[in-house]
Amino acid sequence: MATQRDYYEVLGVDKNASDAEIKSAFRKLAKKYHPDLNKDNPDAAEKFKEIGEAYSVLSDPNKKQMYDQYGHAGVSGASGPGGAGGFGGFDASSFDFGDIFDSIFGGGFSDSGFGGFSSFGGGSRGSNRQTRGSDVLMQMQLDFEEAVYGCEKKFTLDVTEDCDSCGGEGGHDAKTCSTCHGAGTITQQQQTILGSFLSKTTCPDCHGKGKTFKKKCSDCNGTGKVTKKKKLTINIPAGIQTGDRQRVSGKGGAGTNGGPNGDLYIEFIVGEHEYFVRDNDDIYLEVPITLTEAILGTKKEIPTLYGNVKLSIAPGTNSGDKQRIRGKGIDNSFRRHKGDMYVIFKVYTPKKLSREQKQLIEKLSNTDLETKETEEFYKFTKNNK
Ligand SMILES: [Zn+2]
Ligand SMILES: [Zn+2]
Repeated sequence: MATQRDYYEVLGVDKNASDAEIKSAFRKLAKKYHPDLNKDNPDAAEKFKEIGEAYSVLSDPNKKQMYDQYGHAGVSGASGPGGAGGFGGFDASSFDFGDIFDSIFGGGFSDSGFGGFSSFGGGSRGSNRQTRGSDVLMQMQLDFEEAVYGCEKKFTLDVTEDCDSCGGEGGHDAKTCSTCHGAGTITQQQQTILGSFLSKTTCPDCHGKGKTFKKKCSDCNGTGKVTKKKKLTINIPAGIQTGDRQRVSGKGGAGTNGGPNGDLYIEFIVGEHEYFVRDNDDIYLEVPITLTEAILGTKKEIPTLYGNVKLSIAPGTNSGDKQRIRGKGIDNSFRRHKGDMYVIFKVYTPKKLSREQKQLIEKLSNTDLETKETEEFYKFTKNNK
């Protein structure tokens, strides 16, 4: 194995960098070198892998300590599941990209409703190793009510899976590949200024499978994969907000060499309501009241998300006065939290009055209706020079 670069150097951070600094450096670099965004730069995939490897060590307190103490020797050969070769085997497809997803693809989707697909993650290319498919993001629009109460959504999705006829092999009547004798790779000698090296490349005849077929599968045209329209049903819990994501296991991009499919992530965009305004799990509702209701106080039936309630409005209520109704916000089963509802009163002054109403109001106006606020304000006005 070639000499490994120092992980701190790879991420361009100081040895004393904080977790946040390490994370931020990783996000920046991962975005810059993400293979899907660097299709013309063949070195990006290597670079991306190196960045991921450095981050997987430096973001883990235990591994970081081992690395700080013993260097690469401290963290290589650590045997996780399939962890042969230590972090040399870092596989982008098994890495949690949810975290850096926003920074890579944030704002990239302008489509509304269904659609807006993109793959993220993505594994190593060009070997006969089993590789998990890439994760796929899809956006889904929800009505205000669907998000508040939860719902069931049905949709169709193109999912690429192993071909049934050939079991994902791509053909029938397999025989060992005569070019690579079943190894899937061929070894070539390369001349460089430093001398000659042996390099392994994927066999061009069997594309790494190690076998060829007498008969190509006609159902999948030899690819081993077929794309089917799948009807999916998902249950969306109550309380979803714009930006929340739900994972649908195994419905992402197809794996290679028998590897499993990636996952599908559904990101929700929640619509607005005519009257209820949502702030996380709290609900704001503007309640219009008349002038006399504001002055005298009243009892009124008002709507909540969970049926109507009777509300007492105090005498002397002003526009903008707020009243809390506990527990009538969103009952969020996604976050296991119950919000409150806030009623904000708005006094509507009538523009047209009947003759009788006008007389009554004029009579009222002859009485003293001054409040502390109006008195103080006009005292200030009078003395203002
Ligand atoms: Zn097939
Ligand atoms: Zn071969």
